[in-house]
Amino acid sequence: MLIGLLSDPHANLPAVEAVLTDVETAAPDVLVCLGDFVGYGAQPNEVVEALRDRCSVCLAGNHDLAALGRLDVAAFNPFAAASVAWTADHLAGETERFLAGLGSRTQFEGIDLAHASLRDPVNEYVFDEEIAQANFDADPFEVAVVGHTHVPRLFVQAGEQVLAYQIEEGLATDPTGGGLLGKIRLLINPGSIGQPRDGDPRASWGIWDTEGRSLRLRRVWYDVEQAQSSIRAAGLPDLLADRLAAGW
Ligand code: ZN
Repeated sequence: MLIGLLSDPHANLPAVEAVLTDVETAAPDVLVCLGDFVGYGAQPNEVVEALRDRCSVCLAGNHDLAALGRLDVAAFNPFAAASVAWTADHLAGETERFLAGLGSRTQFEGIDLAHASLRDPVNEYVFDEEIAQANFDADPFEVAVVGHTHVPRLFVQAGEQVLAYQIEEGLATDPTGGGLLGKIRLLINPGSIGQPRDGDPRASWGIWDTEGRSLRLRRVWYDVEQAQSSIRAAGLPDLLADRLAAGW
């Protein structure tokens, strides 16, 4: 089974639409979305509507929970906090009810899914080997997929060690040398649809093949200017529009 891995669409409708068009081309069997449907972007209701019925699994991210008033924004930077306040004011009742029904961690087709990390599904950022190692040690997963950092990355357990690799567009090869990805425990981050932060402004998503145990990362151009215009027209901080062009 080919599982389309979507994460962090962040109310960016042009990016979501471009990815859903690419989904038609790549034709995974199912889609999962790891959360942060809302926050930062200006079209939260439209993004939820575009994704909710397409995805077999939907998880809630920290921005979703903050917009529902279920997570304290004290740890958010001022721009993120401003977008949470704006989003809370603009969520349709139907969107709120949908987001309120989501959990932040589950299992699906033999893989573990969480918004942020296995040991802290809402808040922990898995950026480096040390945090990844703690997650490998805390949980017996074989293959896990998380979002939250907005940076596509692959963590592999090789013997006692956990190694981190930034992944590029295309098929990921076994970074420990030649073999199949299936030989090793993996923690995958497919990057962000709506606010990529790896210096590449293109929307990012991935495909995990459960039988072939392969990972393919896809990057998709979308109408960045349209997303920026709607952010500015909504009165959200300019920085949230500016950063989309640079992919950070
Ligand atoms: Zn996010």
